[in-house]
Formats: sequence, C-alpha cells, structure tokens
Amino acid sequence: MAIQDTARMVSERIETTEINPYEMMLQQLDLVREYTDISDGIWQILRTPERTLEVSVPIVRDDGSIEVFTGYRVQHSSARGPCKGGIRFHPGVTADEVKALAGWMTWKCAVVNIPYGGGKGGISCEPSRFTISELERLTRRYTAMIYPLIGARRDIPAPDVNTNAQIMNWIVDTAQLLSGESTPGIVTGKSIEMGGALGRHEATGRGVMFTTLSVLQRLGMDAEGASVAVQGFGNVGSIAARLLREAGAKIVAISDVSGAFHCPTGFNIDQVLEYVKVSPGHLLAGLPHGGMEEISSDALLTLDVDVLIPAALEAQITARNADAIRARVIVEGANGPTTPEADLILGEKGTVIVPDILANAGGVICSYFEWVQNIQCFPWEEEETNQRLGKIMQRALREVWRLAEERQISLRLAAFILGVERVATAVQLRGVFP
Ligand code: NAD
Repeated sequence: MAIQDTARMVSERIETTEINPYEMMLQQLDLVREYTDISDGIWQILRTPERTLEVSVPIVRDDGSIEVFTGYRVQHSSARGPCKGGIRFHPGVTADEVKALAGWMTWKCAVVNIPYGGGKGGISCEPSRFTISELERLTRRYTAMIYPLIGARRDIPAPDVNTNAQIMNWIVDTAQLLSGESTPGIVTGKSIEMGGALGRHEATGRGVMFTTLSVLQRLGMDAEGASVAVQGFGNVGSIAARLLREAGAKIVAISDVSGAFHCPTGFNIDQVLEYVKVSPGHLLAGLPHGGMEEISSDALLTLDVDVLIPAALEAQITARNADAIRARVIVEGANGPTTPEADLILGEKGTVIVPDILANAGGVICSYFEWVQNIQCFPWEEEETNQRLGKIMQRALREVWRLAEERQISLRLAAFILGVERVATAVQLRGVFP
C-alpha cells in the first residue's frame, strides 16, 4: 500500500472518532519506515515505550476532603541518554497522550542531536481548581510516586502545559528530601535561584523565533512585516510572539483558552504581555487594544497570514480545517498540533510545515544546558546559552532542510527520518539485553 494510502486510512479512522495522539505518533513513525532500512526487530523496539508508570495521586484539599488523581510517567527510550521530557497538568492527560509525547521527545532530542532519550509525565487534573497549597501537595505526592523512575542520570522532567518553575522547585525539593542528596539536575526549568539556567524560560519561544526567521529567509520571504498568527499565549506562544515582533514581524492574531483576537495592523505585544500579567487567570479575555476584534479559534487558524504558529495543544489542525488554512508557513510551537491527515492536505497545497520536533526543540536544548550546568556546578551567562541555542537550532534546521531537498520530502518526514535513524543506530549498537 502506498504511504499516502496508509496515512489516509489510519488518519480517517482517527479523525472520525476521537484523535488519539499515540496512534498519531505511531502513524508518523510508520511513515518513516518506508524511507529507512531499519530491521523489523529494531522497529518494534522503537514503537514501544520502555516503561509506562501509572500512579494514584491522592491529596487533601484545603477543606479537609481527599481527592484522588491519576498521574503518569512514561520513558519511551533511553538509547541515546537519560529520558527527558516535561510534566503536564491538564484534564486531557491520558496514558496514550503521555506515551505519544514521550515518543516525540525521543525523536526531538535525536533530531537536534543532544544526548537524551525521551520521556513525559502528567496528571489528569484541572489545575485552575487548586489553591497554591493544594497544587504543592499534588506535585509533591506525584513526585514521590514517580520517584523510583526519575533522576539526573535516569529521567529528567521539565515544565510543560500548566506546570512552571515553581512546580519544578517542589519536585527538586521533594526528591532531595527523599534521597538526602542535593540533586538539582533531577529536573530542568527550575527557578534560577534553585539552579535553573538563565534563558531557559524563553528558550522554546526563542527557538520558534530562530526557526521561523531561518525558514522565511530560506523561502526568500522578508521577516520584516511578515504577518504571523499565534494560537496559544502561554510560555511558547507569548515569547515567540514577542521575539518575532522584536525581529520585525507583525503579530496579527493571538489566542488562548479564553478567546482569539485579530488585529490586522499588528498587536503591541509588550502591551498585551503587561495586560496578561494582571488579568484574571492571566488570560487574554477583556484585552483592551485598539483596532482589534474577537474572532473564533478556528478563524485564527485560517487567517491569510505568512506564518501560523500553533502553540497550544495537540490536534488543532485536522482534516476538518486543513483545507481552509491559508498560511504559507506553519511553525509548530506546540507538540503534535497537526494530524497526519491534515499534514497530507497541507503538503498537497504546498504549505511549508516546520515540525514540532524541530521547531519547539529550543526548550529541551536549553534544558540540556541547564542539566550540564547542574552537573558541572558551573552556571553560564545568558548570552552563552542563547548563542549555543541558536547554533544547535541552525545546525538541526540545516540538516533537516538538506535531507528534505535531497529526497524531495517534507520537513516533517526529513526530521523524523533523521531522528528515528539516530535512535535506531543507538539501539542497534547497544544490542538487546540479555
Ligand atoms: P502554557 O500552559 O504556558 O500555554 C498554553 C497556552 O495555550 C495557554 O495560553 C492556553 O490558554 C492556550 N490554550 C489552551 N487550549 C487552547 C485552545 N483550545 N485554543 C487556544 N489556546 C489554547 O503551555 P506552553 O508551555 O506554552 O506549551 C504549549 C505547547 O508547546 C504544548 O503543546 C507543549 O507541549 C509545547 N511545548 C512546550 C515547551 C516549553 O518549554 N514550555 C517546549 C516544547 C513544547
């Protein structure tokens, strides 16, 4: 069966029911198979996470009642180094979602060629329902439950959706209390005072900015005045928007869970950032900004812009809206925002998609720098971090772009081939124990 047919068949099945991110990740992986000579056995290893841990996370609420949540930690691969991947607090967290995200981390670390495997974790919960002390108890209990798996040489969590530096600080502290040892390298994305890296907070958005500018240049498009729509105004989306604005682009649309907003003349991103610092729930709702109108979330995705940056959750660009998307370039700030079926539709239209495993790798690259600094007990200047980040992102983009041109394939396929082949080589070299 032709690759396109396989993709269509599986994607149709996924998209007519609930989109399962794990099936989506496997589907992407299986497409790569046709382009490599990886053996069946190694392929089976790559398709299967090394470890999946499901834990119960009970907490005492402030009113004295007990509530139990379900948490996960998945280690997809440790073939190229310790597992690495964020922790997500969200009602949509499931075992399959975490497995998919862990797999994407494996390919991502390999594409940018840093010495990590892939992992991911999460708790199925709505964190906005918690007080700070409830959130702290939830985090510490979850840390204790996944403690047997994590460690600076084993598996290193980091922030993801709805988790931040404070949550990482609680994880480090809990781990230190359990082990009796100072181990700042057990997580990345900590506060600077706890051993965090200068520049880590901005790194994913900065990487999205680097890749966007680089791709525009390769396509002969001017970054100055380029119109950009950004879905999601959290860590990745807001920082990418600010840095792209500083680089001369015009941010014409932004959104978050509270709504989507269109300003054809371009948002004053500094003003928007000042607003969300103090707005209820740090959301865009109620944003006072001249020349702006509220639009639907779907309308943001289909605006006639040079660049669309999905930076919210997975499966936002699907068979249902891909046809209507008019952006020339999509830079995937979020993990898995485009389904395989949508990918095909957009590919046929000639849309250039910079895949998540490349575009949003800035965070994990800087996490790697943080971990190196923790292990060496030697902090770097922020300038050094940003320079090294730029170098690694440029190198990865160059390699992916070259492979895509040589083989006349999409950037996503090229990035997957590069990443998957590197992991397959490491698995092959290790051999199968015993
Ligand atoms: P975040 O929690 O800081 O922000 C998420 C944003 O998305 C928020 O503004 C939220 O309101 C918005 N959002 C949620 N649902 C939405 C919807 N249906 N429509 C529009 N907006 C919606 O999270 P983040 O750290 O910015 O992560 C965003 C994405 O980037 C995730 O897919 C994450 O896995 C990925 N990512 C994050 C990092 C990182 O370093 N933070 C690194 C790599 C990838």
